[in-house]
Amino acid sequence: MSDAPAHLVETVIRGPLAVLPDGPVLADVGITSGRISALAEPDSLTGRQYVDAHGMVLLPGGVDPHVHLHTRFGQWLTSDDFWTGTVPAAFGGTTTIINFAIPQPGETSLEAFNRARLEADPNVAVDYTLHACITSNRFEESLEQFGALREAGARSVKVFTAYRHTIGLSLQQVDAVLRHAADHDLQVLVHAEANDLIDAGIADRVHAGDLSPRGHLISRPAAAEEAAVRRVAELAIAAGSRVFFVHVSSAVGVEAVRSARSRSDRVHAETCVHYLCLDDSVYDRPDGELWVCSPPIRSHADQQALWQALGEGVLDLVSTDHNCFNSEQKFRFRGDFRNVPNGLPGVELRLPAMVACVTRGQLSWAELARVTAESPARLFGLWPQKGAIAVGADADLALISPSASANFDTTHMATDYSPLAGVRGTGRVVQTWLRGKTLLDGDSFTQSRGYGRWLAPH
Ligand SMILES: [Zn+2]
Repeated sequence: MSDAPAHLVETVIRGPLAVLPDGPVLADVGITSGRISALAEPDSLTGRQYVDAHGMVLLPGGVDPHVHLHTRFGQWLTSDDFWTGTVPAAFGGTTTIINFAIPQPGETSLEAFNRARLEADPNVAVDYTLHACITSNRFEESLEQFGALREAGARSVKVFTAYRHTIGLSLQQVDAVLRHAADHDLQVLVHAEANDLIDAGIADRVHAGDLSPRGHLISRPAAAEEAAVRRVAELAIAAGSRVFFVHVSSAVGVEAVRSARSRSDRVHAETCVHYLCLDDSVYDRPDGELWVCSPPIRSHADQQALWQALGEGVLDLVSTDHNCFNSEQKFRFRGDFRNVPNGLPGVELRLPAMVACVTRGQLSWAELARVTAESPARLFGLWPQKGAIAVGADADLALISPSASANFDTTHMATDYSPLAGVRGTGRVVQTWLRGKTLLDGDSFTQSRGYGRWLAPH
């Protein structure tokens, strides 16, 4: 452990179990000028002010690399924006988000990227960066913008193999993106569900007269995920591009990722908190539309496979795929899954849900820090500024009371339901810091709109 001259330390967080990259250790953590300036033996550091954190756990602030704030999908606009979506992040111990800049009809990828920055900059409560997206909207022009996107600060570009009738791409187009991205050193994020299999699945459900929430699950089989991962991984390996499979949801999807990773170290993948904490029984509830998302939430056996893959590192990290709609939106076309807006609110719930998994023994504190902060920061060019409790890193921290009961029933998100309502566990975020300033203190958000900053990934 290093020390710093006492007169320089502004704030000392005294005596928590600090989850460092090498593992948890009882320590004093010093903060000066927005950065972590010292790590020292407990109760050894002198500073201008102190936070008593004995008996608490101190985590690196969460980095959630898969968030859709203030986003329009066809007729649906998410119920939050960059302010109402990032305040809840702070309540959930997340201090950095990566949002997707999805082109709207008529927009190129670069136009969408620049628009998202203008919308986010004055409003964000936490630090953020953006993934560019390339869709069927002005595809050819957007493909020629990869150099300009890189100059604008993008280091990643997302494609969808599903949603071919709106924003999705053909495999041939995905191949062109992968090759072009390799030339520009951009990582390609892939929503991998085979569109042909989903179209067939939906037609089958229409024929069966089953448009229920469970029909949504049946219409999007795990085989569609597996097929798309295998097809795109093949193309990515041939193109030599870095590829990242988002929201892997199934055991067969995991196996496809595992096989690709055995052949290339440029393949990575995530899962999301709802696939780890829920199973498909949610679709048998009378309000099952609230859990309609793509890919759907699958069986208990799939959930177990995801946990195993996370432990083995076949899945690198846990994100949220936060897509916030309220129950009026989710129920407007109740009884017809084809028209229910896809997605779950989650940006506030990810870290607390994973903390509850630690306290019930499903993963360790070190693994939690790796999958919620370190891995996303490393994979998306934010390490070591973000993602670790280390001297020199931004003082982005989440203080956890490990014995307090968790609350998954009510949230601060811009919606009227919680997808994890009824889940029980222990561990609660009691304080969050971003660049050394308190963002959350108990029940209060303490910074103003626009305190968050744009991050330029490297
Ligand atoms: Zn998403």
